[in-house]
Amino acid sequence: MQKAGLIHPSNPGCYYYLPATVRSMEKLTRIIDQEMQGIGGQKLDMPSLCSAELWKTSERWDLMGKELLRLKDRHGGDYCLAPTHEEAVTTLVAHQMNVSYKQLPLLLYQITRKFRDEPKPKFGLLRGREFYMKDMYSFDVSEEAAYQTYESVCEAYTRLFSRLGLRCVQVQADTGNIGGKLSHEFQLPADIGEDRLLLCGNCSFSANVETMSSDRTDCPQCKTGTLVESKGIEVGHTFYLGKKYSHVFNAAFTNAQNKPSVAEMGCYGLGVTRILAAAIEVMSTEEGIRWPGLLAPYQVCVLPPKKGSKVDEAAVVAEELVHTLGETFSGLRGEVVLDDRTQTTIGKRLKDANRLGYPYVIVVGQGALEETPRFEVICQQTGETMFLSRDGLFDLL
Ligand code: ATP
Ligand code: MG
Ligand code: MG
Ligand code: MG
Repeated sequence: MQKAGLIHPSNPGCYYYLPATVRSMEKLTRIIDQEMQGIGGQKLDMPSLCSAELWKTSERWDLMGKELLRLKDRHGGDYCLAPTHEEAVTTLVAHQMNVSYKQLPLLLYQITRKFRDEPKPKFGLLRGREFYMKDMYSFDVSEEAAYQTYESVCEAYTRLFSRLGLRCVQVQADTGNIGGKLSHEFQLPADIGEDRLLLCGNCSFSANVETMSSDRTDCPQCKTGTLVESKGIEVGHTFYLGKKYSHVFNAAFTNAQNKPSVAEMGCYGLGVTRILAAAIEVMSTEEGIRWPGLLAPYQVCVLPPKKGSKVDEAAVVAEELVHTLGETFSGLRGEVVLDDRTQTTIGKRLKDANRLGYPYVIVVGQGALEETPRFEVICQQTGETMFLSRDGLFDLL
């Protein structure tokens, strides 16, 4: 990503996200918004600068150890840069008086920067000290209702990864310092993954080794299958929390008997920047970056000929093509790049386009000036090069 001009390092685990990356993250954000709002999620935005008081109340001020980035304000008050927001959201809900059981489930989420003083930030955006996370928190009337919400979030996550065209496995997971009773991770199988997974060859059982004695090879679910180990990148994590935070912060609602009742909670993270980097990690080739189609920063790159070549007029055709594509297809508006570095050869620019992984590259050369114009089209997904008429090109797109 660094070589391709997508990110630039600043200090350990912190990066500049360059324009193409921001475009891609905006696309990912929109898809996450659709999926979270599709199950009733409401988006909010909570402060990153959090008072120590909240974290002391949950006892995580000490539990989090060195991973929590702490600072003091000018009055000597203790603060942290939030690594997650269970405390903040629960106290917020606790302060919204008179929440009725009729208003639940309440699903609140945000997509914001999180801060964690990772001992070993590495692999670029895969493990940063400052990164984007989508974190959602659910409030329900009962354990049963909370389990249903938990299921609906897991289904939304599965849908999200399948829309992105990424193979993702849902595994049983440890609850770590977030706490709670039930937990799953969403893992992208990859050799550089830091998590070790055990998958049964015979049934649907799958777990992070952290949840079991790892030397185990027999499947605890079907009893007959053998567990096979593989590596994964954790891109999402769901937790059923019960009353762990709602009890401490007194996040209660009024139940059907008109009595206060403490809410059942869940929390659900997605590593936004990690998903982007992990997708690039599992999809890219030796030649260059490859994206899930929906996340490519631009969909089409149009290459006019080199200046001073015999077919200079083709440059006009190329410009007109960029314009017409945006006018014709609403999905391509603002999605077509004209690589007008016409001092550079087509070959060199084609190589750059290949490295950046545009889903479609259109070369406008000699053929575009003929009586029945032909365009050279390179389709990234299939690796195919096609020579298409104008109609053929529009059909393809
Ligand atoms: P890991 O085991 O990789 O350290 P985690 O279990 O500590 O991750 P969670 O607290 O479950 O992370 O956070 C939810 C999601 O946020 C993770 O599933 C992951 O996708 C993302 N995430 C966590 N830490 C980082 C990080 N340092 N950089 C980028 N994304 C991260
Ligand atoms: Mg961690
Ligand atoms: Mg983990
Ligand atoms: Mg986790």
